[in-house]
Amino acid sequence: MKKSLFLTGLLAVALVACQHNEATDFDANGLDSTALATISVDSYRTYVEQLSADEFMGRKPFTKGDTLTVNYIAEQFKALNLKPGNGNSYFQEVPLVEISSQPVSSTLTFTGKNGTVMAKHLDDFVIGSKRLQEDIQVDDSELVFVGFGIVAPEYDWNDYKGVDVKGKTVVAMVSDPGHYDKTLFKADTMTYYGRWTYKYEEAARQGATGVLLIHETAAASYGWNVVRSGWSGPQLDLVTEDNGASSTAFQGWINHETATKLFQLAGTPSDIMEQAKKTGFKATPLNITTSLALKNTFRKSTSNNVIAKLEGSKRPDEVIIYTAHWDHLGIGEPVNGDSIYNGAIDNATGVAALFEIAKAFQAAKAKPERSIVFLAVTSEEEGLLGSDYYARHPIFPLKKTVANLNMDAFSALGPTRDVSIVGIGQTEIEDYVERSAAKFGRVIKGEGNPSSGGFYRSDHFNFVKVGVPGLFMGSGNELLETDTTVINKRREALSGRYHAPSDEVDENWNFDGIIADVQLFFDIGYTMSMEKTFPNFKAKSEFKRTN
Ligand SMILES: [Zn+2]
Repeated sequence: MKKSLFLTGLLAVALVACQHNEATDFDANGLDSTALATISVDSYRTYVEQLSADEFMGRKPFTKGDTLTVNYIAEQFKALNLKPGNGNSYFQEVPLVEISSQPVSSTLTFTGKNGTVMAKHLDDFVIGSKRLQEDIQVDDSELVFVGFGIVAPEYDWNDYKGVDVKGKTVVAMVSDPGHYDKTLFKADTMTYYGRWTYKYEEAARQGATGVLLIHETAAASYGWNVVRSGWSGPQLDLVTEDNGASSTAFQGWINHETATKLFQLAGTPSDIMEQAKKTGFKATPLNITTSLALKNTFRKSTSNNVIAKLEGSKRPDEVIIYTAHWDHLGIGEPVNGDSIYNGAIDNATGVAALFEIAKAFQAAKAKPERSIVFLAVTSEEEGLLGSDYYARHPIFPLKKTVANLNMDAFSALGPTRDVSIVGIGQTEIEDYVERSAAKFGRVIKGEGNPSSGGFYRSDHFNFVKVGVPGLFMGSGNELLETDTTVINKRREALSGRYHAPSDEVDENWNFDGIIADVQLFFDIGYTMSMEKTFPNFKAKSEFKRTN
């Protein structure tokens, strides 16, 4: 009897507590409307305008714009009453190196038994090195065609099986088998094995001396011009402990025409690239050699990640990390007389969202039980370097890192009913997105073009690589606005501005959809902060929670 009474009493208390919560902290949809109301267009727009002002000079790492930007972000974090995220500092120093790698000869010669193939620098091939040594010399390195250059046990695929590529130069195709055969890998959705970065990493693991990727516009999802411009200037990279010694001596691309000539010279079957797309293909030595020399110049310097935190009320050692890259392209080639690449959409919109979300967490009636970390990372545009550095030198233990929620380039086209998850099917975070989206009357969808490998192309991916589930999400395409004149005006004000000096705030941009997306980002992290579970990767992901 006593026990039962006690239980009844406990239940009653629980019910009251529950009702109290529902009645005062959350609205009928389960949202904290007070917290959400702090995320406003006016303050958000002010942050975006400030971050993308000419004064910040395009926020390029290593420049005065770098210093101005990181100081501005730290000041905002402080003003928002967030604690420093790195001991008593808002900064995490990121040691970087700028490498300029020039081939000594502008012609690359391939020698076979029956002749030679010559390729011209930038027109036919690009090349570089991540090794911090002044001279790279490669003599008579044998070429081996390794198909996609993929080792993926979970798909029972190994392009390096039975072949020794030590000291050799591997020639590999871009993308993965699913791009050509829907029954293989993840069909149209590119896996990480399809990314060029993976192919360089795998070739290094196999002990190859060099890598040449064969460019194909459709499979790469971008033209040769993108490869050419991306590889013609100096490259930023993280300073690694071995100064790049564990990467291959050189990395590069050749165009499709050069690859065809190489296969002709080698006398391989004319459909060898088709064969390599099928199960059971075996890597083929081409009986061709190449020699080359590179002159490397490099300078080391540091940039900074900016980091702040809001301590959790119950489980402060468990963290949810919001990220947005603060960097952009700086001052570059002028377009219509403008040389400042302001990067308003990319990614002042993401950094400003960090501030708005921080405000919402501060205003929440029930305080987050887990800690919330706000991390503005450097050098995303140069290859996700700031987040890579954080993932290699985490300030908060990875095994206590619940999730990474990454914001990169919001859409100013206006509110949409759907939200687009890049890399849908990868992690259980999308279950949170689905539930939160429903509270706002929204639905989730996959990204528009999954074969472009968007999941591997922003900062959340560096968390994913070290076993922490990451989310990359944005507006969908079902616009709530129906007036086509209005929509077209917005589209015009956005088109052609990606990575251009015209990526600056425009009066025709609509911020309402961004605010809706930012509110959604807040609710996802907030919901997660109240739970004890750790979202995992989904069974079909090529990644696993390793911590
Ligand atoms: Zn970006």
